[in-house]
Amino acid sequence: MQERRIHNFNAGPATMPLPVLERAREEMVNYKSSGMSVMEMSHRSPQFEKILHDTEEKFRKLLGIPADYTVLFLQGGASLQFAMIPMNLRPEGSADYILTGYWSNKAHKEAKLLGSTQVIATSEESGFDRIPLVSSENQNPDAAFLHITSNETIQGIKWTTEPPCTNGIPLVSDMSSNIASRPIDVNKYGLIYAGAQKNLGPAGVTAVIVRNDLLDRSLDNLPSMLNYKKLAKEGSMYNTPPTYGIYMIGLVLDWLIENGGLDKIGALNKEKSGLVYQAIDVSNGFYKGHAQPQDRSHMNVVFTLKNDALTQQFIEASQKERFVGLKGHKSIGGVRASLYNALPIEAVQSLVEFMKEFQRTNG
Ligand SMILES: *Cc1c(COP(=O)(O)O)cnc(C)c1O
Repeated sequence: MQERRIHNFNAGPATMPLPVLERAREEMVNYKSSGMSVMEMSHRSPQFEKILHDTEEKFRKLLGIPADYTVLFLQGGASLQFAMIPMNLRPEGSADYILTGYWSNKAHKEAKLLGSTQVIATSEESGFDRIPLVSSENQNPDAAFLHITSNETIQGIKWTTEPPCTNGIPLVSDMSSNIASRPIDVNKYGLIYAGAQKNLGPAGVTAVIVRNDLLDRSLDNLPSMLNYKKLAKEGSMYNTPPTYGIYMIGLVLDWLIENGGLDKIGALNKEKSGLVYQAIDVSNGFYKGHAQPQDRSHMNVVFTLKNDALTQQFIEASQKERFVGLKGHKSIGGVRASLYNALPIEAVQSLVEFMKEFQRTNG
């Protein structure tokens, strides 16, 4: 089984831990002697209610989510949150956005469709290769919230520490591509959201962590499916939740906890990405990293080669060696190696070997 798996550098949906897939296979047709698969169960059954409850408990434990925060497992992807966040948290007034790349721009565009926004910092001038400087003077003291994207999946840059937030403005962060990749202090955030398909499980579930006092901002005239307050009141069960995806997230959380939690995985992620950045740095310019070194992502390593033809050759040669997913996003091109939690360090070591060999034969 192991030897038939490839080196999976997909950006999302992405590689899953092999032990998780194996456990799901074992439990697939008869979950814990129930005589059913999890996907055949009523979402109102005690068995599924336990899965949902346990998944939330494990998520709280792993991320250190305080009791005054609500956890929601929703649908619609991170992209629906781009709209739900301003709908719920900005009933009036304006919201601040920091633009760092593709996804923060998308989030901002959706918020603009629905009301007033202000961009308080951007790294557009330098091609989104860094996190811009943010001073508290730029911030609107009455902003409904401040939105950031903690890891720009396409540009390969990340926030290392949170930006300053004046006046108790809630910080909102899209953590789709680096949730559970290192320890964070949830108390610093008003709301955290993440599509599951990069670091938590299969596509189809979006995790939202929201501080309880912010739920009071949701107006009664919002559609129920888009109303955090209502969704929270129903405990993610306003309608049928994505049951199988939630179960899979539970298995991924078990795997993370068994493997030492976020301190351990954070150190490993730093080591993994460090191997690829080092290969870039010692290549004498053969490989050129997109991100400024201080803001390099530990999840998505983005680099280019001398020209598009050589990049194409690199991608094709990598596919022959059983690497998948290395082609950069169409919006910026180049190469992107996504190194999520589930990607084994052996795959990264193989990539580094491949990069060296490719440079030796084409440099
Ligand atoms: C993948 C990704 C998204 C989009 O997620 P969907 O679940 O497809 O809506 C949004 N933000 C970031 C940072 C991402 O990496």
